[in-house]
Amino acid sequence: MAIRAAQVLFLLALTGVSAGLGHGLGFGPAAQAAEDASRVAPPADQLALANEGNTAKPAPEAVLPKFPVAQSVRVGGDGRKTRFVVDLTDSLQIHAFTLADPYRVVIDLPQTMFHLPRDAGKKGHGLIRAFRYGLVMQGGSRIVLDLTGPARIESAYSMPSANGQPARLVVELAATNRDSYLRTIAQDNRARIARPVQALPMVHATADAADERPLIVVDPGHGGIDDGTQSGGILEKDITLSFAKQLRDKLVNSGRYRVIMTRDNDTYVTLSDRVKIARDRQAALFISVHADALPPREGDARGATVYTLSDRASDAESARLAEVENKADLISGVDLSSESGEVADILIDLVQRETKTFSNIFAHTLVGEMKHTARLHHHPLKSAGFRVLKAPDVPSVLVELGYVTSKDDLKQLTSESWRSHTAEAMVDAVDAFFSTKVAGGPPVTAAR
Ligand code: ZN
Repeated sequence: MAIRAAQVLFLLALTGVSAGLGHGLGFGPAAQAAEDASRVAPPADQLALANEGNTAKPAPEAVLPKFPVAQSVRVGGDGRKTRFVVDLTDSLQIHAFTLADPYRVVIDLPQTMFHLPRDAGKKGHGLIRAFRYGLVMQGGSRIVLDLTGPARIESAYSMPSANGQPARLVVELAATNRDSYLRTIAQDNRARIARPVQALPMVHATADAADERPLIVVDPGHGGIDDGTQSGGILEKDITLSFAKQLRDKLVNSGRYRVIMTRDNDTYVTLSDRVKIARDRQAALFISVHADALPPREGDARGATVYTLSDRASDAESARLAEVENKADLISGVDLSSESGEVADILIDLVQRETKTFSNIFAHTLVGEMKHTARLHHHPLKSAGFRVLKAPDVPSVLVELGYVTSKDDLKQLTSESWRSHTAEAMVDAVDAFFSTKVAGGPPVTAAR
């Protein structure tokens, strides 16, 4: 997908992640290390095979990219100075920077496999309260350290294996005060934090121009470094992706729609980029897929809920949920909540009112179809300020398929046949939505 490749390149340029693209851009030992990390060595047994005089080409594994592996992690020091160390199979090029409110350190690195204990990062030490890690895009991984207070990055580097020690990534932090913390951010990071989302390439759907079928954007919630909710080792990001793929396939197979997904693998996509994908492609409908979780000891709610956008949440639970879902960008380290107020325009406001009506119509239709196959929440139709629903010109809904914290729901969410039936119900709702739109309302394209 063109947007993805360009996006990756753009982000790489910004974050300085090398990821094996464009060797020679870097310099010094770090660049050499990155090059070493991306070099592919065929395993010894395959070399042996190749040398036995067979005409057979080396096995395909030999040319697959081999990602560095993070094997263990430790945090040392105290509340004044703290050292964060990751043992790696290869040294690599890293880039670390700080973010405020909450205080965080973000470490960008080329795509890395994290073979760490399941509870790694849940509890920190010294200046590090906790940390998380994962893929943020194809070719790029990230570690986010949550800090106990303002801290300065004293050093951040990666070193190759030496003296029987594995390669390592090291970040050393020292406590500082809020003023100087914020000053550092202002100096170093202003350009990146204000990363203009609009700098992403505009995707002109020229190839699609002749295709009049409505374009539907299916948005699997979370991904990459952002796991979403979880229960018993099952992650929301995986549930949403499996479901979204089912939905995409069924929509495509109907022959009535064009479909794109905001992600079709375990990658992180910011909330605003999800919205942007729908807007740039002039989508006729945006469906975001999620799975909720209840905080411990807060009842045993279950069932699916369909949400639309509203300034005022329909109840306290919706407000809580929107807050949780909107944190997705914070989890990846980069908080884009201070985006330009593009929705302030009065013309957009008018379009938005119409979009809102269509969103509500679709949400109603969806609940009507889903109640035949899925168990619904006792108030299945709600609204709140979800940022992913904020395209002013694309009717959008967010579906919480169920609660991963409910045993019964979780069983369904992970069941192939439940997913298939529920996705079919959604396709029926999409059919009903577009047939009413064509028959009774303005033409399909009037959503813009
Ligand atoms: Zn979610």
